[in-house]
Amino acid sequence: MDSNQDQNLFEKVARLLRQQKEMYGDFEITVEDKSSEINESQSAAKIELHSTASKPNVEYHEKREGSIADELAACSTLEELRSFCERAKVLRTDLSGTNLVFGVGNANADLMLIGEAPGENEDSQGEPFVGKAGQLLDKIMEAIDFKRADIYITNILKHRPPDNRDPKPEEREQSLPFLLKQIELVNPKLILCVGKISATTLLGKNSTLKEMRQQFHEFHGRELVVTYHPAALLRNPHWKRPTWEDVQKLKARYNELGGKP
Ligand code: URA
Repeated sequence: MDSNQDQNLFEKVARLLRQQKEMYGDFEITVEDKSSEINESQSAAKIELHSTASKPNVEYHEKREGSIADELAACSTLEELRSFCERAKVLRTDLSGTNLVFGVGNANADLMLIGEAPGENEDSQGEPFVGKAGQLLDKIMEAIDFKRADIYITNILKHRPPDNRDPKPEEREQSLPFLLKQIELVNPKLILCVGKISATTLLGKNSTLKEMRQQFHEFHGRELVVTYHPAALLRNPHWKRPTWEDVQKLKARYNELGGKP
């Protein structure tokens, strides 16, 4: 090949690469030496084009995850965590214009209660469990001598999902690190999950509510108990008795563990 032919070939290859880049985005070229595997009449070098279009996304995602973990680790008070949650787009649902419903109650509570997600009333007041289900929850807590201000109450999701739909798996997954930090900061002796969504998200298993009730589950060095969601009790009053039994057991264990009176 003379130098003109070289130049033509070079321009052809450059044009081909520009077209490939336009079509597929950035890519890498790997020159793989296969000389030991192929016979001499064939080309000794094989050029492979790998699209790298997805790579920046992966790195971006990892970076984002890294920075969420870093920012969470840097939160040393509930107020700092609340302010991070206010800014965290990842906590939002597909309903626009919702308020953050972070959590309420005693920041040093020995009992932390975790529901599913805010509803309409909770969204407008920025406080968990203030609607009808919340009023029933207050009564259940009063039955075991807790006032709302004695305990800490929050939800898996910090923003309201549209039409009161169940939180999606990815919404639960994205909210979980924030909730785990909240648990760490409150540092309760006991956690009460109300409803299946709360319990399965925290325990990381897809059991039925019946299977998860009546046990003290180990959870990051604390104990976790599960009972019916108060909204479910409004629809199925026959679950009130088992709920009553669950919270009696919870209170007995709370006293055994030396929970603050
Ligand atoms: N249901 C929940 O799970 N949480 C609330 O805050 C209100 C209703």
